[in-house]
Amino acid sequence: MSWARTLLLKMSQSHWLRERAPQYSFVKRGVARFMPGDKAEDAFGAVRELNAKGIGCVLTALGENVTERAEAEAETAHYEDVLGQIWVQRLPAEISVKLTHLGLDLDREFCFANLSRLIGCSPSGKTVWIDMEQSSYVDATLELYRRAREQDADVGVCVQAYLRRTEDDLRKLVPLGGAIRLVKGAYNEPEDVAFPQKSDVDENYFRLTQLLLGEEARRAGLRCAIATHDTRLIARIQVWAAANGLQKSQLEFQMLYGIQRAEQLRLAAEGCRSVVLVAYGKYWFPWYMRRLAERPANVWFLARNLFSS
Ligand SMILES: Cc1cc2nc3c(=O)[nH]c(=O)nc-3n(C[C@H](O)[C@H](O)[C@H](O)COP(=O)(O)OP(=O)(O)OC[C@H]3O[C@@H](n4cnc5c(N)ncnc54)[C@H](O)[C@@H]3O)c2cc1C
Repeated sequence: MSWARTLLLKMSQSHWLRERAPQYSFVKRGVARFMPGDKAEDAFGAVRELNAKGIGCVLTALGENVTERAEAEAETAHYEDVLGQIWVQRLPAEISVKLTHLGLDLDREFCFANLSRLIGCSPSGKTVWIDMEQSSYVDATLELYRRAREQDADVGVCVQAYLRRTEDDLRKLVPLGGAIRLVKGAYNEPEDVAFPQKSDVDENYFRLTQLLLGEEARRAGLRCAIATHDTRLIARIQVWAAANGLQKSQLEFQMLYGIQRAEQLRLAAEGCRSVVLVAYGKYWFPWYMRRLAERPANVWFLARNLFSS
């Protein structure tokens, strides 16, 4: 892992920076590349614009690790409103939540009750996605996902290709059907938990995609979302899928708002399912630092903003 990535991921965990950095206008201008705005209405606007281009959306209200039950309840109520708006406005969108935003650090049962409330009011046919956070949360996250699947909920979970355990996890998750979003992984993890070499992560990603698109997964009715901006990996997966008799319409790619826009459009035009995760909200600092860490060259955009302010 490069020193710049490590530093940015450490910064993402700093409470001191979280309080202060968002007050600076050059930092706010930097994050604007990755977010349509602070409010749910800004995200709805982005959903309409992307829909006009054949792209679907997943919405996420930024925030994590809440420390008060009232905060988790307020976030759950916010998501209920968003799901209501998705239904009323017929928006082609789903939601994705972080379990620590719904109170996982406080009480697992309380968090599950909040998640179940959201699943209960999600419009029919719309998946409620669960993000994956640091490796210390994987067991709890997968347990709550499994419990939701036992109740036949329309729910999806994210898994991270950088984790050594993920292949074993997937062998148990695939028969449950449901939905799985595969990502490389965005946190700072020790070497005994996550592959330190990017090439190993990329190779594992390809192997895991084959598992998620394989015969057993298809039999179980699993929805697989290939969430990456890595155009070489996408091309390799497309070639493999075609050689194995999959139609383009059976492939779903997910990307983040503002990243690889041309590729998002290309995939939609080709007939693949192209989906963009649109984040919004005030608590964007840790999330933004993870976006910078994914591509430390992004720091230059931030520096340019500083000198042009
Ligand atoms: C829909 C979606 C949901 C996600 N949910 C989670 C989650 O729940 N948990 C989790 O740990 N991670 C999540 N991630 C983040 C993920 O783990 C990676 O950190 C992120 O996607 C970067 O990896 P990559 O696959 O794009 O490949 P990389 O090899 O990192 O990037 C490939 C190329 O994409 C471009 N790129 C990638 N990131 C950026 C960026 N920030 N800015 C500009 N260009 C960039 C660059 O051109 C880069 O060369 C999610 C990602 C997506 C797309």
